[in-house]
Amino acid sequence: MERFGGPEVLRPAEVPAPDPAPNEVVVAVEAVSINRSFDLLVRRDGNNRNIVLPHVLGADPAGTVAAVGDDVDEFSSGDRVAVSSTIRCENCRECVDGDEAACRAPVMIGVHRWGGYAEQVAVPAASAHRIPDGISAADACVVLRHAPAAYNQLIDKAALRPHEWVLVMGAAGALGSFCVQVAKSLGGQVIAAAGSDSRVEAALALGADRGVNYRAENLAEAVRRFTGGEGADVVCENIGDPLLWDGAFDSMAQRGRLVTMGAHGGGKVSLDVRKLYSKRLRLIGSAGVTEKNTEDSFSAAARGDLVALIDSVHPLEDAAAQHRRLEEDRSAIGKVILDPTMAA
Ligand SMILES: [Zn+2]
Repeated sequence: MERFGGPEVLRPAEVPAPDPAPNEVVVAVEAVSINRSFDLLVRRDGNNRNIVLPHVLGADPAGTVAAVGDDVDEFSSGDRVAVSSTIRCENCRECVDGDEAACRAPVMIGVHRWGGYAEQVAVPAASAHRIPDGISAADACVVLRHAPAAYNQLIDKAALRPHEWVLVMGAAGALGSFCVQVAKSLGGQVIAAAGSDSRVEAALALGADRGVNYRAENLAEAVRRFTGGEGADVVCENIGDPLLWDGAFDSMAQRGRLVTMGAHGGGKVSLDVRKLYSKRLRLIGSAGVTEKNTEDSFSAAARGDLVALIDSVHPLEDAAAQHRRLEEDRSAIGKVILDPTMAA
């Protein structure tokens, strides 16, 4: 893209193939997903992220290593890798403290440097992760992009214990679908909440124990009914919609924990402080992931415990058309993937 604007600013262009700098690898891209925040919002107006034009979108490429730079020992040409989007700064107080998930000034692939809407992309070798055998590039791309955040929310932030009830909002969404599966794999009992019956069905198919359509039913009442009157011990909220927040908040059990890292629903909500303290609730902001979260995700995917919801796969030339479709229609279940090796 040479300017910001509508989907039409995404145009195929010939540019020189990337040369790997020291400690970088060049990945021949076989899959990259279309993200709402990193792709649609950045394309529209830059999303206040200091984008330098011309720019190539694509936060989470996966494919095959085509070249390695100096000082790269861990990869060689032909290795299959998926790339995590966040490059830690290693300088901020959080990085120096060793709080991997909390870097305050990360560089994002496809945002602050050219990304994976391309046949090839150069990335730091430290951002590349070997894809376990038997997992497609598209699956690896989606797992690496979203599953580590589910592990971070449920283990590092909410400290989920076996048999606790977990309410997952947006349970058929990119993050929500992994929250359902990770919570189940950790022994939780999962209530899948979503905004349509078909999305509730999709989340139940991933293993959720109960489902509720929060646009058709009183969410907190349904959660109390499912949990013997107690409520959910953990809520994966991740929407930030003022119309949905109260239902999620009121669904919490005594000493409940609500974790969130999303604001697609607007981001400004009202807070019942009296309930917050009288029920000893905790609200936990959760962005960023650790290496352990990533390892756990690929291990679970290799075991067959994580299914990536994929709507469809398209040639790279269809990027503009697919951006347009995603802007006009939010009903797709699963990620839309671009595959630069696919003929237009
Ligand atoms: Zn940092």
